[in-house]
Amino acid sequence: MNKIVQSDSEIAKKKMTDDIKAVGVIGAGQMGIGIAHVCAVSGYEVKLIDIADEAITKAMVTIEKNLSRLVAKGKLSVEEQTSAMNLITAETDYESLKDVDLVIEAATENEEVKTKIFEKICPMLRDDTILSTNTSSISITRLAASTDRPEHFIGLHFMNPAPLMELIELIRGIATDVDTFATVKNFVTSLSKIPVSAEDFPAFIVNRILIPMINEAVYTLYEGVGTVEAIDNSMKLGAHHPMGPLELADFIGLDTCLSIMQVLHDGLADTKYRPCPLLVKYVEAGWLGRKSGRGFYDYSGEKPEPTR
Ligand code: NAD
Repeated sequence: MNKIVQSDSEIAKKKMTDDIKAVGVIGAGQMGIGIAHVCAVSGYEVKLIDIADEAITKAMVTIEKNLSRLVAKGKLSVEEQTSAMNLITAETDYESLKDVDLVIEAATENEEVKTKIFEKICPMLRDDTILSTNTSSISITRLAASTDRPEHFIGLHFMNPAPLMELIELIRGIATDVDTFATVKNFVTSLSKIPVSAEDFPAFIVNRILIPMINEAVYTLYEGVGTVEAIDNSMKLGAHHPMGPLELADFIGLDTCLSIMQVLHDGLADTKYRPCPLLVKYVEAGWLGRKSGRGFYDYSGEKPEPTR
């Protein structure tokens, strides 16, 4: 006789409808904005939080604009846009996190910033609230250990831009429990995204491969092998990459790229991950790419212009 066995995903599916209704997103930068958009379109209530007032104001305007673009393309109805916007509240006060079922931390890629956020929010959260991080590279086990809930902590790594990219990496820390993983995996599926499981090694899968390639492109520029335009065109036309590596670096944010290289260099102790001095210099100059208006391209005019 066949026994009816309830799988992990069936158990989690029940949990998802019961447990995840409201999501807290910390950091209203480019990733937080995209994650809030994706969650609201899928029917989740979203509390978006940032320390900077201007980030909050900009976030709501950007989300509305991005949703309008989908309406214009016929991918979303006006009613769906309105209902998604009504599900999002953006503020600088962390208090609203006390009622959420899942927190997605998407603040600046800096371990100290993230652990300070966890220290602040943990006492406000319900005991059963799942805490996740969108970090691109930092150890999930170490971040989890700085919280009061390592078993309910997980890496939930969206790709950029979150509304467009299909993949989400799921990274278990050493203490992450089976229920947390199953619940978050179902949450990912409910967003119409495809989860991939990655081990907790520096930069996981996508950025372990992608960011050293970008760093190598910066070395190629630094050593004068090619200009910005030549390097980007070579990879677009010669390798069929949709964006050149330097254009992509500007899109990701040069501070984020540098931080990921530093995590790879420190965590794997291999000189092949040495951040290019030119990347360091750009970040020190505050040339962070698109978000600051200048990186390997200058974004002040109609069309991005190479800066080298
Ligand atoms: P960003 O610089 O665009 O935004 C970061 C936001 O965090 C800013 O608005 C900042 O004000 C806010 N912030 C800083 N400290 C805070 C605090 N204490 N409390 C609340 N908000 C705070 O960065 P981003 O590109 O959105 O990256 C955010 C996270 O997502 C990082 O961990 C990054 O590694 C990860 N990520 C980035 C990409 C990418 O392509 N940029 C892709 C995947 C994941």
